[in-house]
Amino acid sequence: MSNICSKELQKEIIKLKENKNAVILAHNYQISEIQEVADFIGDSLELAREATKTDADIIVFCGVDFMAETAAILNPDKKIIVPSIDARCPMAAQLPAELVRDVKTKNPDVPFVIYVNSYASAKAEADVCCTSANVVKVVERLDSDVVFLGPDANLAWFAECRTGKRVIPVPSNGFCYVHKAFKVEHVEEMRKKHPDAVIIVHPECDPEVQKKADYIGSTSQMLKLARESDYEKIIVGTEIGLIERMRREIPEKTFIPLYKAVCKEMKLNTLESLLIALKFESNVVKLPEEVAERARKAIKRMVDIL
Ligand code: SF4
Repeated sequence: MSNICSKELQKEIIKLKENKNAVILAHNYQISEIQEVADFIGDSLELAREATKTDADIIVFCGVDFMAETAAILNPDKKIIVPSIDARCPMAAQLPAELVRDVKTKNPDVPFVIYVNSYASAKAEADVCCTSANVVKVVERLDSDVVFLGPDANLAWFAECRTGKRVIPVPSNGFCYVHKAFKVEHVEEMRKKHPDAVIIVHPECDPEVQKKADYIGSTSQMLKLARESDYEKIIVGTEIGLIERMRREIPEKTFIPLYKAVCKEMKLNTLESLLIALKFESNVVKLPEEVAERARKAIKRMVDIL
């Protein structure tokens, strides 16, 4: 798509969203052209929370399926639409509701912590939700020395190291393919090439990569560090969309991808699909109220214990 074409599409989207009293919420991993027309950019929970604050009639949620579901759980009275129904997170699919139910039935006294990167149906079976930003606090505050956590096994490892509790991953090898792509060799190579830079990575990266990094944090924590620290040169180990945002919003600093990792599913949302969904109000996200109600409890418990 040419730049001129993008600009025209962006103008059309902005006009339409004003006419329809709609807001566009975009995840940090969305393409830059979508981030540029968004009313708010953030991580999945920031976006879902932002959705509760708006009085818009329509929320266009640019992310992947579980994020739009979370927005729908927290905003049962609003119309939530997504640009592409094919933007489905492969990691969320690794934790079906039946697996959570089965683990809970066999271990009724062990709390099940569910990462926000999961389906509503799985959240409905779990005890409490968490994000990559608050997982340590959530696990620490539970009255149990052993917890289950899914679907990301690397996040479970991270929580276990930080809390000293036993954090059992469910499934045992759940992963995000985007963050799994970062290797120790990338860290070593970048250290040699840029000895003056700091290396920050996401807790969905493999333990070996986390151990070699200078800082581990969620996308919102990485962005905060990039904005508020004195570091001038930062090597970033997460999806490329966040690095593009950092470069756009903090132009005075240097951001280098640890490796160019792309989430294909996030990139299925385009300006064209956004425009079509908004124009025809298609791809509406709807959840059975009984599922939404139970999933809401897991999210509410997370908010309550923090
Ligand atoms: S980056 Fe990973 S967790 Fe996030 S949507 Fe893509 S596959 Fe799922």
